[in-house]
Amino acid sequence: MAINTRNEPNELAGIEKLLSVIRASEKRYDIEKIERAYLYARSLHEGQYRVSGEPYISHPVAVAEIVTSLGLDTDSICAAFLHDTVEDCPDKTSIDILKNRFGEDVAMLVDGLTKMKAINVEDKEEANIENIRKMLLAMSKDIRVIFIKLCDRLHNMRTLDAKPEPKRRATALETMYVYAPLAHRLGMQRIKQELENLALSYLDPIGYAEVSDYIETKYGQNQNFIENTRAYVAEKLEEYGIHFTLEGRVKTVYSIYRKMFRQNKSFDEIYDFYAIRIIVDTELECYTALGVIHELFKSIPGRFKDYISTPKPNMYQSLHTTVIGRDGIPFEVQIRTREMHQVAEYGIAAHWKYKSGASSKEEIDQKLAWISKLIDTESGAIDTEDFMHALKIDIFSDETFVFTPKGDVIALPVNSTLIDFAYAIHSEVGNKMVGAKINGMIAPIDRVPQTGDIVEVLTSSASKGPSRDWLKIVKTSEARAKIRQWFKKEKRPENIKIGQDEIKRVLSRYRIPPTDSQVEEIVAAAAKKLGMADVDDLYNAVGYNGSAMTKVSSKLTQEYERVVKPEDNPITDVAEIETGTIKKRKSSGGIIVDGADGCEVKFAKCCNPLPGDEIIGFVTKGYGISIHKRDCPNAIAGQAKPEQADRWLHAEWDNDEYPTGGKPLYEVGLQIYAENDIRLLSNVTTALADMKVTLIGINTKKRTESDIIIQLTVGCKNIDHYNSILSRLRSIPHVENIERGIS
Ligand code: MN
Repeated sequence: MAINTRNEPNELAGIEKLLSVIRASEKRYDIEKIERAYLYARSLHEGQYRVSGEPYISHPVAVAEIVTSLGLDTDSICAAFLHDTVEDCPDKTSIDILKNRFGEDVAMLVDGLTKMKAINVEDKEEANIENIRKMLLAMSKDIRVIFIKLCDRLHNMRTLDAKPEPKRRATALETMYVYAPLAHRLGMQRIKQELENLALSYLDPIGYAEVSDYIETKYGQNQNFIENTRAYVAEKLEEYGIHFTLEGRVKTVYSIYRKMFRQNKSFDEIYDFYAIRIIVDTELECYTALGVIHELFKSIPGRFKDYISTPKPNMYQSLHTTVIGRDGIPFEVQIRTREMHQVAEYGIAAHWKYKSGASSKEEIDQKLAWISKLIDTESGAIDTEDFMHALKIDIFSDETFVFTPKGDVIALPVNSTLIDFAYAIHSEVGNKMVGAKINGMIAPIDRVPQTGDIVEVLTSSASKGPSRDWLKIVKTSEARAKIRQWFKKEKRPENIKIGQDEIKRVLSRYRIPPTDSQVEEIVAAAAKKLGMADVDDLYNAVGYNGSAMTKVSSKLTQEYERVVKPEDNPITDVAEIETGTIKKRKSSGGIIVDGADGCEVKFAKCCNPLPGDEIIGFVTKGYGISIHKRDCPNAIAGQAKPEQADRWLHAEWDNDEYPTGGKPLYEVGLQIYAENDIRLLSNVTTALADMKVTLIGINTKKRTESDIIIQLTVGCKNIDHYNSILSRLRSIPHVENIERGIS
């Protein structure tokens, strides 16, 4: 089908250019469908104009163009054309019509994009803005929705100067707080940077101009610096026979603005103002190129980062180092492969660009699942800011986002009820709750709201307060605590009665039930030991369920034994009778520790024990049992201290814990002492890759002019595995010595 654009000559250029790009592409697009989507959108937007005076259709066309440049698929391009047709057109269409004409996927994408328009960040606090970002991710059940939304926002920002001032500011704010961070989390650097720069130019035009001027002056002064450095580096890389692309750049206005104004740095303190980027074919060449750079220039200590072995949570991979250039000017060097570069520039969307055809969606889901895996095993190698951001990526997470009638967004754990929602707003709202509405319809208060629902809590001052049954219905500990709080305060006489009955019931279960006066003595002593002012406080606590019964009953047992002295009866623990557990050596995390039940076990960072090592446990204050190697200097020193005597426990590996062989990896640190050699780092990483060893962290330190220390953190199965890694690393040329543990 040929598109007749003769009626609107000024839109011809945009759409024809886009269609010719699509036709020329190697990807399998459904061109007929794309053209139909365009024509339908054009007919619906007929007679509509943007504030700038252009026909409205120019906006969806521009968005579709950006969507195409990201490498998204046919349905995404169609949705881009149609994204404003459901709400903003004079002759509105509906999601159902779109479903009939363009299929489920296009309709679902447009629906997701339409729902996002309800979100408004003005006058919101930071916590709520974070909820909005998360909600956007949660609402777009298909991640393509977010991608298209970012393209839509980018075009709106590019054309923002046509809008009146208050609208400009609101849109720029929303972009800075919501959309740029989202682009960052999805690893879409190019879009993120453009959004930030555009937003800044509206939010602080003076600061923006100041920094742009600085950059111009600075860049003007050293105009040839980047070019000269590039030429010099290129010459050397060629000598090594590396196939590479070199880019030079100056930092973006926004990133410099942020450093100067937020971190209060002067222009001279910005080390990475200049940067060059080396893009090579293979991972191995990355390390070789790094060696070349460190040979040519003096590096600034503490600024080498290996994001290849330890990618950032948004999948970013690269080597970073900062070196001093020829005129004493510091500059940053980033080294990565072509594929890593695509991911860095376009984020997750880059994978679409590379893989055409089916299964791309599953692939992205997998990639995101991989992100969440990375976060689980996070080991400190990822910088905190990114780690925190990554934690909040919640496409898969277990939260529901619900609007208040005012448009605030409340985040609740999945399956939370309307009662939880009421208590999340305020305890008074919960305590006076008599009913609720979801999207304007009355709903039972134990109903579970869905993301995107607008919930209104109906309250009455005549309410008699929460019901005890609510404790069984609510999902959040916050709501439960607030309900208990209310009972503690409002229902003391009633609680005391319930508590008395409960404690009597427990005590009557002993083989020799205590007499009434013994009960009094036992309860009074237990109350005192539990830090209660009197017995009524204890009864009250048990009655409103504020104290765990297991804690109370173990104290009761102790006092029972003291008061009743049941000579012939072996000691019976009430908690044991109630739960039916048998006391035994407890195992956790593949470890058996004597005399410690149900404790968390963690591995001491000082010696990183591995299965096969002789080990010992130390009872920490509040952090469970810490496992050390028996010959760990800290363990030896600790056991010598009399005050720690009863805190050191026998521990051993539980060989039955992973009978099917699915053993976990244990982190272990290594220090390689070596003579510095250009191939050393790549030899080490290649050896690890050959052995399929999981590299968790890598760091280098200069010891003398010619000697360096490479600190590695790797994943090990057990001591044998460790020894095999060790002997392989020892065989690498220039390696002199390897120590276990990182100092
Ligand atoms: Mn739009």
